[in-house]
Amino acid sequence: MDNRPALPPEIARRRTFAIISHPDAGKTTLTEKFLLFGGAIQMAGQVRAKGEARRTRSDFMQMEKDRGISVSASAMSFDFKNFRFNLVDTPGHSDFSEDTYRTLTAVDAAVMVIDGAKGVESQTRKLFEVCRLRDLPILTFCNKMDRESRDTFEIIDEIQENLAIDVTPASWPIGVGRDFLGCYDLLRDRLELIDRADRNRVAESIAIDGLDDPKMADHVPAHLLEKLREEVEMARELLPALDPQAVLEGHMTPIWFGSAINSFGVRELMEGIGTYGPEPQVQKAQPREIAPEEGKVTGFVFKVQANMDPKHRDRVAFVRLASGHFERGMKLTHVRSKKTMAITNPVLFLASDRELAEEAWAGDIIGIPNHGQLRIGDTLTEGEMLRVAGIPSFAPELLQTCRAGDPMKAKHLDKALSQFAEEGAAKVFKPTFGSGFIVGVVGALQFEVLASRIEMEYGLPVRFEPSQFTSARWMAGDKAAVEAFAAKNKQHLATDNDGDLVYLTRMQWDIDRVERDHPEIRLTATKEMM
Ligand code: GDP
Repeated sequence: MDNRPALPPEIARRRTFAIISHPDAGKTTLTEKFLLFGGAIQMAGQVRAKGEARRTRSDFMQMEKDRGISVSASAMSFDFKNFRFNLVDTPGHSDFSEDTYRTLTAVDAAVMVIDGAKGVESQTRKLFEVCRLRDLPILTFCNKMDRESRDTFEIIDEIQENLAIDVTPASWPIGVGRDFLGCYDLLRDRLELIDRADRNRVAESIAIDGLDDPKMADHVPAHLLEKLREEVEMARELLPALDPQAVLEGHMTPIWFGSAINSFGVRELMEGIGTYGPEPQVQKAQPREIAPEEGKVTGFVFKVQANMDPKHRDRVAFVRLASGHFERGMKLTHVRSKKTMAITNPVLFLASDRELAEEAWAGDIIGIPNHGQLRIGDTLTEGEMLRVAGIPSFAPELLQTCRAGDPMKAKHLDKALSQFAEEGAAKVFKPTFGSGFIVGVVGALQFEVLASRIEMEYGLPVRFEPSQFTSARWMAGDKAAVEAFAAKNKQHLATDNDGDLVYLTRMQWDIDRVERDHPEIRLTATKEMM
């Protein structure tokens, strides 16, 4: 960021981000309005498919439809003014934190949506902490201002105290609930008035020459105007002014107030993402970093999704381009296998439908259909042996044994589970001793999702049963020591989908004991996927 050269314009105009929020805060509604103003859809309502079911078009699993949760992340691209936005959808449910974590490795910024009546909720806080680990810039949207909300200062204070980040108001709400009129745009001195008659209409925007402009009185009743002037004066005194550099460093978040469902405040937020959001960033990799403006293409897989289209049994690897200008048909080196792949049918996710990508630039997300060669954490380059760093795999917190309903079909189960392991949907361990598979997940709901997917996609009923183990740790350290230990502790050992050794146990003290008695062996709760 400091002394870096200016990026080529095509790269500089890209903004790749995710939305973090607690369920129900309005992520889906906001996404819908982004797409509406991005010209990607004609009418709001198309994202949340027809009828009662709450889901975006990117949700396609039966489970998701039934429960109204988004199990799988996908990416959507749209243009707004001079900007190209790439919005990566994060699964909203707390059970899918690992997936979410990896999704956040593919973005340069996050938009945090909070409900004006509820403030910072648990899931928002967790996701915020993940963003903080990477110092991701965060822009905040305080939604549902058309309802009874908390006092504006109280909301800002809560964010500052709860999340330890400076908050600077980009707009200030006028009135609240039924009296909510709109916002005063503090960055551009404009009055934005909500149009409650048509939810898809952009608000009326009136240029104002400061808060003392007599024009204000034509639009804002005296009692609200007085309150607004007082509050803004106080805000300017008490709250920090917008510092673009602090925003880029993740120490300050600008906040916009609005109502996604009324399309209010969304356009200002989008302008904010364009103006204050980061350009595609340098990517950490081994043995060297990758800069977006480099001439050669590099990218990494942060998500694999199988069976997106049940008719085609394909897998799509979602690749974040870290550098260069990609063109369809390019041959890229798959660093892990050192093989060359011709990327002939990459897809860009334009709003609702997949489309063939003729070209893409650093910052973009493309989908590469494949038959399982591409795994999470894989790097693609034009020949250089670079590996993108920092995409972790977490030790699962819940373990269960998985068996085929029909023992004759155990082979198929092997295939199905290994596919889900590659997707990153679960950890699958093959015990050295005994039969069956041990499946590990981060949240209990994932067992249900898996059972339902195995049945739907492979026609294979399965049972999940309690396992005698409750923890799994990868084994690292001195090779001979690990092998000697493994030979003596077969009943505790398994291999993961990559063939790496895993120590299974039921007690934390067991882990402590191994570490104490075998200092040359390390038991790790994360493994970098490379
Ligand atoms: P998500 O779970 O974060 O994706 O939330 P949704 O976008 O599905 O919104 C949750 C609920 O809040 C839905 O019933 C929306 O219609 C409603 N909602 C979203 N935005 C607003 C808003 O600005 N005002 C009001 N009153 N309701 C909203």
